[in-house]
Amino acid sequence: MTDALWFDPSLMLIGGTWSAASDTLPLINPSDGSDLARIARGQASDIDAAVTDAHAARDGDWGRMTATERGRILTDIGRKVLERVDDLATLEALDVGKPLTQARADAVALARYMEFYGGAADKVMGDTIPYLEGYTVYTLREPHGVTGHIVPWNYPMQIIGRSVGAALAMGNACVLKPAEEACLTALAFAHIAAEAGLPEGALNVVPGLGAEAGAALASHPGVQHISFTGSVRTGALVQQAAGANVVPVTLELGGKSPQLVFDDADLDAALPFLVNAGVQNAGQTCSASSRILVQRGVYEEVRSRMSSAYATLSVGPALDDLRIGPLISARQKQIVEGFLAQGANLTIAAQGRLQNAPESGAYVLPTLFDNVPPDHRLARDEIFGPVQVLIPFDTEEDALRIANSTDYGLVASVWTRDGARQMRLAKALRSGQIFINNYGAGGGVELPFGGIGKSGHGREKGFEALYGFSTLKTVAAHHG
Ligand code: NAD
Repeated sequence: MTDALWFDPSLMLIGGTWSAASDTLPLINPSDGSDLARIARGQASDIDAAVTDAHAARDGDWGRMTATERGRILTDIGRKVLERVDDLATLEALDVGKPLTQARADAVALARYMEFYGGAADKVMGDTIPYLEGYTVYTLREPHGVTGHIVPWNYPMQIIGRSVGAALAMGNACVLKPAEEACLTALAFAHIAAEAGLPEGALNVVPGLGAEAGAALASHPGVQHISFTGSVRTGALVQQAAGANVVPVTLELGGKSPQLVFDDADLDAALPFLVNAGVQNAGQTCSASSRILVQRGVYEEVRSRMSSAYATLSVGPALDDLRIGPLISARQKQIVEGFLAQGANLTIAAQGRLQNAPESGAYVLPTLFDNVPPDHRLARDEIFGPVQVLIPFDTEEDALRIANSTDYGLVASVWTRDGARQMRLAKALRSGQIFINNYGAGGGVELPFGGIGKSGHGREKGFEALYGFSTLKTVAAHHG
C-alpha cells in the first residue's frame, strides 16, 4: 500500500461510520500496473444501509440546518480541500494516472466547487406569482431528499465537486458510488468533509462494482434523484432503473466534440487549444475535442502546426508529471488500441512519444489522423483516448453539417474572426456548450454543463445545477 494514503482505503462510509465490506477489490496503479490498495466491494445491502442513514440525516441535524449553515460547511470543506491539494493530487495521480499538474488542478477545482456552492446555498429563491383576487401564490425550492451519485474514474474530484457540492447545497443527503477503477479521492473527500463538520449521514460513500453497488443505487426506491456520469450504455441502464421508481436522472455521457477552424481564425491563439483539448487526461475527458474540422485554406498549416505540437507530447508515469499519463487501465488501453486499429487505412499525421513508460503501464501514443472522412468510425465514435482526427471542409454549411452529424452534442467550439458567423454557428450547432475563439473557458465551475442527444440530459455546474438538485413546490393561499 502506498505511503500517500492517510486513511484506510478498504472502508466505506455509511451514516458517519467507516466500516468494512464483506469483500474487497484491488485498485491498480495504471502508471506501472502495481497494486495500489484494496477497496470495499459494496453490496446492495450496504447501499440500502447508506440510503437509510441518508434519510436519517435528512430527518435529523442536516435536514434542520438553514441554507446559510449548509453553505458555511461547504465553504469550510473547500478551505480544507485547498489545504490538502498536494495530498489529494498525489492520490489522484497514483489512482487515475493523471500527471500531477492536472491532478492538482482537479483538486483546486474541487475546492472551488465547494466555495461556489457554499456561497450559493442561501441564494436560491422561489417566486411570488400574481394570481386571482384573494390569492397569494409563491414557490418554494426544496431538496429532493436523498440523491444518488454514480461517478466515473476520469475526473473523480471534479465530478464529485459539481454533483455532490450542488446536491448538499440544496440540503439533499448523498449516497456516492465512486468508480471501482479510481475511488481514493472520493474517500479522502469524505474524510475532509467530516473534519469540516458535515453531519453524519449527509454524505455516504460506498465503493464497489457498477453491476453491484451501482445498480443497487440506481434502482433503490429510497433514492429521489440520480446523477450519473459515464458511458452511454450504462447511462441508459441507470435511466431505466431509476425510471422504474419514477426518479429523475441527470446523465452526462460524453461526446465527440468538434472544433471548427475557419480560414480567418487566429491560429496562434487556436493551436494550444486544438491539441490540448484532445490529449488532456490522455483524452479520457467527456468534453475532449476529438474532431478538428479545418477549412481548406488553412488545412495544411493547421495540420503541420498540430503535428509539430504532437511531436513534443511526452507520455509517461503520472508522478513524472509529463504532458500525458497512462490510460486508466489495461482494459481501456485495449479499447483505444482497437480504435487505432480501425484507423489502419488512414494516414497518421503525427504521434507523441513514450518517456520512461514501464511496459506494465497502460500507455498509448497520442495520435493525430489526417484527412479523415466524416463518416469514418474514428470521426463518429467516442474513443476516450488521446486520439484526434483532422477533417477538411469547404464552406460554413459543410462545417455545420459535419459538426452536427454525430449522435452526440456536448461541446463545440468555433474559431473565426467573423462576428456574424460566430453568432450563426452558436445557434445552429447542436451542443450543450459552445465556445467562441476558445475551448472550455478554463473549465468554469460557474458554467452550466451537459449535453443533448447521446451526450445526455440535465445540467450540472453553475447555478443551474441547484435547480436540478431541487424540486419546486407551488403554494396557493386563498385568503379572500
Ligand atoms: P461506465 O459508464 O460503465 O462506468 C461509470 C460508472 O458507472 C462507474 O462508477 C461504474 O461502477 C458505474 N456503473 C457501471 N455499471 C453500472 C450499472 N449497471 N448500474 C449503475 N452503475 C454502473 O464506464 P466505464 O466502463 O468505466 O468506461 C467505458 C466507457 O465509458 C469509456 O471508454 C468512455 O467512452 C465512457 N466514459 C465516459 C465518461 C464521461 O465522463 N462521460 C466517463 C467514464 C467513461
